[in-house]
Amino acid sequence: MKKSKTVMIGTLSTGGNSPVRIKAMIKTPVQYLDKLINEALTLQKEGAEAIRIAVREEKDAKLARILKNHITIPLVADIHFHYKNALKSIEQGFDAIRLNPANITKRTEIKQVVKEAKNKGISMRIGVNSGGFKKKFKTSQDMAEQMVNLTADYIKFIEDQGFFDLMVSLKGSDVLTTIAANKLFARSYDYPLHLGVTATGPFLEGVTKSSVGLGCLLSQGIGGLIRVSLTADSFQEVRVAKYILSSLNLRSFGFELISCPTCSRCEVNLIDIVEVFKKRLTDRGFNKPLKIAIMGCVVNGPGEAYQADVGVAFGKKKAVIFQGDKIIKKSNENNVVDDLIREVERIWS
Ligand code: SF4
Repeated sequence: MKKSKTVMIGTLSTGGNSPVRIKAMIKTPVQYLDKLINEALTLQKEGAEAIRIAVREEKDAKLARILKNHITIPLVADIHFHYKNALKSIEQGFDAIRLNPANITKRTEIKQVVKEAKNKGISMRIGVNSGGFKKKFKTSQDMAEQMVNLTADYIKFIEDQGFFDLMVSLKGSDVLTTIAANKLFARSYDYPLHLGVTATGPFLEGVTKSSVGLGCLLSQGIGGLIRVSLTADSFQEVRVAKYILSSLNLRSFGFELISCPTCSRCEVNLIDIVEVFKKRLTDRGFNKPLKIAIMGCVVNGPGEAYQADVGVAFGKKKAVIFQGDKIIKKSNENNVVDDLIREVERIWS
């Protein structure tokens, strides 16, 4: 897949040689300003690199100035139906605008938004969702083609105004539609793609659909930015995005845990041990890129430990900590978390 061009969202580069970026979206309604600011701060702390906010009325656009007193990452205004909200958002200092071609359709209105974005030197995202179509399609491919066709017409009109700082998103609530639409688009355009599967459902379903959809595209070199959508807290979306990118070795966000699913060979409470270890190491602020294996028995334990930077294999209530093929510590079920943390910190220091 050929490389996309670079497009800026404020100070954040996307596409080209940039790492795949993580975007989050605010969920707090604008009338709860303190809560909204806290959500933005949490998202930035979790690792979001840009934040999108729904601008539903012109007065919401002032959030750009308010939030810029609290966070440093770029802000994107999400605009539907009313082009004047886009004009106000540009005036108030948003770093980019998202327009939906399914509901901002008048050429004169699009033209005005493009003109102001160009004057301010900000980028725009053309964002199409499957929910924007009020008809049923026979196949995922049919829907994907419609999404790309709508986007292509919109892009052509915007390019005719001499505007090229564009990102594009093509999100289906169906994984196959999302994959097909983005692959189709990437074949003909070099604008960076903002990837997401939309309306994915509750946490587990959403994590699964997002991981399959985004993972498939990212593994083929498609995608400059991702936004995970879950019917869950927004910080969880950022965490999942980080796990997706690190699982494909596209980004690194600290230590990686390898642990077995357990089976009837396992004679310790591995699920608790792994959770406690992860929490304690995270609480200590350890964020170095070490691979740490925690395995339930000697069948695969020593092998995984060997391939990781440090690892544990359990036996009968006993544990052996390995670094490479060397046993560096003998421990037991009760002390293993403390011992492993000590060894991890020693190896990294
Ligand atoms: S490492 Fe051992 S306990 Fe864990 S799943 Fe494999 S065989 Fe079972």
